[in-house]
Amino acid sequence: MEFKIKKFILKSSNSNTYLIQSEVDEKRCYLIDAGNGIEAINSLQPNQNIDAVFLTHAHYDHIAHIGDVIEKFPSCKIYCSEYTRIALSDYKLNLSFYHGTPVIFTGEQINIVKENDNIPLFNQEKMVILETPGHNEGCLTFQLANYFFTGDALIPNIPIVTKLKSGNKQQAKESALKIKMVTDENSFICPGHLNMIKSTEIDWKLYINE
Ligand SMILES: [Zn+2]
Repeated sequence: MEFKIKKFILKSSNSNTYLIQSEVDEKRCYLIDAGNGIEAINSLQPNQNIDAVFLTHAHYDHIAHIGDVIEKFPSCKIYCSEYTRIALSDYKLNLSFYHGTPVIFTGEQINIVKENDNIPLFNQEKMVILETPGHNEGCLTFQLANYFFTGDALIPNIPIVTKLKSGNKQQAKESALKIKMVTDENSFICPGHLNMIKSTEIDWKLYINE
């Protein structure tokens, strides 16, 4: 493995921000979500940069510190779905309005990604994009080697929340099935909440047969 993964939790909502660092090229770092971007930034060495943030979706607890990340690293790219781009600029759609700290982000750093796109990270490693709507319309899962960053599209052994705006139960089920099909006994799920888990430890019936 050419990279290491560190997790930072936004305590108010128990959401995960993942920092991905290369073992060989220590300068380049990446974030999955930015709910606790500040602690992730503060953990960096002076010579390290956040080169890109991959947003699973634009709910407040996953984007809270996006502005702080871009302020510190203005050339950092943001990879997300079209729906997430729209929600980033709408504090009601991204729910930040209801948390008392409105987030409105419309930067030129945003790059829209779609199913099967892949973004080179380090030498051999690339991030592959899977569209996994259901929790909301814009949910993406990011695959790096055998790690799958699912955001809220799949939180191990907890039913997928579909009651928020643009949530869709049928899509959530199809997305869970998609994740099941692309993972195997060597895969790890790195969810938006709770702990990383082997794909084989997930009770898939909870998602697929309901
Ligand atoms: Zn969410």
